[in-house]
Parts: sequence; C-alpha cells; structure tokens
Amino acid sequence: MHEGRPRLVILGGGFAGLRILFHLHETMDVTLVDPRSTSLSKPTLPEVALAGKPVDHARFPLAPVVRRHGARYVGAEATRIDPDLRLVVLAGGETLAYDYLVVTAGAVKDYGAISGLEEHGYSVCDDTHAPALWRAIDEFGGGPVVTGAARSTWGSRVDAPALAAPCEGPVGEVAFMAHHELRHRHVDHSITVFTPGEVFFDDVGDAVHQAVGPLLEHAGVTVMKSKVIAEVAADHVRFEDGTEVSSALSIVIPPYRGPAVVSSSGLGDEAGFLAVDETMRALDDRRIFGAGDATARAMPKLGHIAVHQADIAAAAVSAEVTGVGEVPAFRPEVFCIMNRGGAEATLILSDVLFGGRRDLARGGSLAHLLKWGFDAWTFHTCGHLPPGGMQAALEAVLGSSDHPRPGHSQPNRPGGAP
Ligand SMILES: Cc1cc2nc3c(=O)[nH]c(=O)nc-3n(C[C@H](O)[C@H](O)[C@H](O)COP(=O)(O)OP(=O)(O)OC[C@H]3O[C@@H](n4cnc5c(N)ncnc54)[C@H](O)[C@@H]3O)c2cc1C
Repeated sequence: MHEGRPRLVILGGGFAGLRILFHLHETMDVTLVDPRSTSLSKPTLPEVALAGKPVDHARFPLAPVVRRHGARYVGAEATRIDPDLRLVVLAGGETLAYDYLVVTAGAVKDYGAISGLEEHGYSVCDDTHAPALWRAIDEFGGGPVVTGAARSTWGSRVDAPALAAPCEGPVGEVAFMAHHELRHRHVDHSITVFTPGEVFFDDVGDAVHQAVGPLLEHAGVTVMKSKVIAEVAADHVRFEDGTEVSSALSIVIPPYRGPAVVSSSGLGDEAGFLAVDETMRALDDRRIFGAGDATARAMPKLGHIAVHQADIAAAAVSAEVTGVGEVPAFRPEVFCIMNRGGAEATLILSDVLFGGRRDLARGGSLAHLLKWGFDAWTFHTCGHLPPGGMQAALEAVLGSSDHPRPGHSQPNRPGGAP
C-alpha cells in the first residue's frame, strides 16, 4: 500500500475491473473488491459448455494478480455505497473508504425470472451452468435443442440503444457449437433459436446478417423472431404469446439486471444499472465512475465495450488525480468472434448501431485462431489483453473493404476482441 496516494476502490475483478487496476496501480492506492476468488472469462464459457474445455481454463485466481500490481484484494461482496461519506459497505459490515470508486461489478443474470429455467433448462453464462451444460450434452440422447436469450429491460437515464437482448453472440455460439458437437457424435437433433427482437443479432447491420444467415441455414438452424420466453418445461419452451415449441434441451441466456450494490445505493437507473456520462462518471456523484456490464451505457453487454469503457474511466480518474492526460472519446462498436464449432469462427465488427458504417463479418479458421489466441493470451497473462501484433492479424482478417466511421478513421480498439 502507498500512503499519501489517493485511494481507489474497484468493485469487481472482471474484464473492466482488471483493466482499470492495470492502468491505475502505479498512481493510486488501489483496493479491488470481489466476492469471487477467481476472475471469470465469460467468452471462454461456450467452449466449456459445448466443447468440453476444462472450466479452469476460463478463470484464474484474482488475489495474486491484484497483489502483483501492489494493490489490495478484498474477497467480499460490496452491498452498499455511501457517496456522502465515500464509503463502501461490505457484506459482514466492514467498510472501505475511498477517494474514487469505480463500479465494475458486471450484470446480474436473473435465472429465477424465467419459470422452470433452473429446474429444466441450461445456460452458459457462468462457471456453474457451463460445465452442467457440457454434462447434459454428454448425456443427450437426441431431439430438439432450443436456445435463445430472454428479453431484458433497460432504464432511460442514458442515451443507449435499448436492445431486446443484452447480446446474442453467445446464442449464436450455442446454436453452431451444439450442432457441431451433436453431429460429430452422430446424435439426431434439430436446433431452434428464438429471439425477443424483430431480428436475430439486432446489434449489427444488414451485411453481418447477410453473412451469418446462410451459415445458420447451412447448419439447419430455425430462427423464431419476436419470441419472449416465459417458461422452460421438461419437454417444451413456452413464450409470452402463448405459443410453445418442443424441446429436449433448452439453453437460455437469462434476463440481465444491474448489480444490487448499485440499486441499493440509489445510483442506478430503472433496471439497476449505473447511469454514467460519456467519461464513465456517475451522473449522481463526481467521485464514482463505472465501466462494463454494470453501467447503463454498456449496450450491448460486450467485453469489448467493457474494456473500452474501462480505458475511458481510468483516463478520466487519472486526469482528475494528476491534472494531466486526455480522456478518450466513447466510440462503442460491436466486435467479437463467434465460435462455430471445430476450427471455425466468425469475426464480427459493426458500428451501425451507433451511427457508423462498418458492418462486416469474416469467417474461417483464421478467425477461430484469433479467438483461441485471445482466450489463451488472456488466460496466461491473467487478464491482460493481447498487444498490437494481434491488431495487425485482425486487420489481415478484416481485409481492406471496411469503411471507417466519418471522422473516426482509427477506432480505439484495445488489442482484440474477447
Ligand atoms: C456466455 C458468454 C459469452 C460471451 N462472449 C463474449 C465474446 O465473445 N466477446 C465479448 O466481447 N463479450 C462476450 N461476452 C460478454 C462479456 O463476457 C461481458 O460483457 C464482460 O464480461 C463484462 O465485463 P465486466 O468486467 O463488466 O463484468 P464481469 O466480467 O461480469 O465481471 C464482474 C465482476 O464483478 C464481481 N462482482 C459482482 N457483484 C459484486 C459486488 N457486489 N461487489 C464486488 N464485486 C462484485 C463479479 O464477481 C465479477 O468478477 C460474453 C458473455 C457471456 C455470458
């Protein structure tokens, strides 16, 4: 610990929280709070759930990483923030004083909101559900597989796209990878994807839809649009409009809501997400910042956007503490690599949701290699993102046909796509 430096408390050691730690550990006295003992890389979970990757390859111990950066790790849940006293209250009653606070506590996956999901269904969003799904795949005797995202609702305090689902990339991965795995095992199956939106992948544009559509068709995937899941039963899934579809294996991304620590502190919007401005500063308190899924401005809920927000939040805190440095502009974009099973993947880069003109998808083994490289790099470096060389490889995959957003020729892309 470094006496005399301003105290920074970070709530959450996922993509965003670690990125802020890596940026600010040399200038501030940092404490990172997380009830988990490991940092979980969610983009690796579809491989755990549908390709049998060991779950320990999707997580690494948090305390050593935090300590190696000269910071303090507190293994507890933050339950409340007192902005007036500048205190974080932990479960158990202990308090932590801060000069600056960054909320990077992610989103809550509300499995209980869908009747029957915990009893009859499966998911892929955490390190309990993903291995359970792999066991179910292992034992699956065949039949219809139904997968999709539940509808999430969002608040109105910030100007962010109100998507029907937080992010449907994992749904695409489940559909393609389940098909690949079951076909490989010679298990009879059909795959149906449902989406609460009017289009599947409503965070990207027509060019990406045109690239992904034939891949879904080729895999025999049926897509049902404007379907809001209401219930998972033993042999079917029921939607809010009263229709049902038979299902022997139901895999659902539950609704997202904001972390309780935000709403219990009166800092959230209607859905419990931290309302922040474009410098990631909380609308309700100048000493509080946020980044990643916990914020209302992260839309869709993507690791790539979480890291971009973390870079901005860290720069904003640093500029305030040191009086120097620029705060990057908030330029969100959808950037991810969707695994399709085996050695295939599709890299997606699109900013049309935010008024840009980039909208492209590149498939093939090189995209898969990049995904594998990203996951391996993050795992072996305990949360660091790949450096600039990765960027060159990405540009090679993307080719020369992408169109920069007006006034924005070099997007601030931090070392690759989760
Ligand atoms: C299955 C799946 C696949 C995905 N694939 C991709 C992908 O390919 N590419 C991509 O860009 N994005 C992907 N995403 C989205 C991406 O994982 C998230 O956007 C990203 O993890 C958000 O990072 P974060 O740091 O904001 O939150 P998180 O990674 O969720 O981390 C939040 C941390 O805060 C901690 N925490 C929670 N509550 C508290 C509290 N009260 N006090 C202290 N700590 C707390 C948690 O324990 C956790 O460690 C995927 C998501 C899922 C579910």
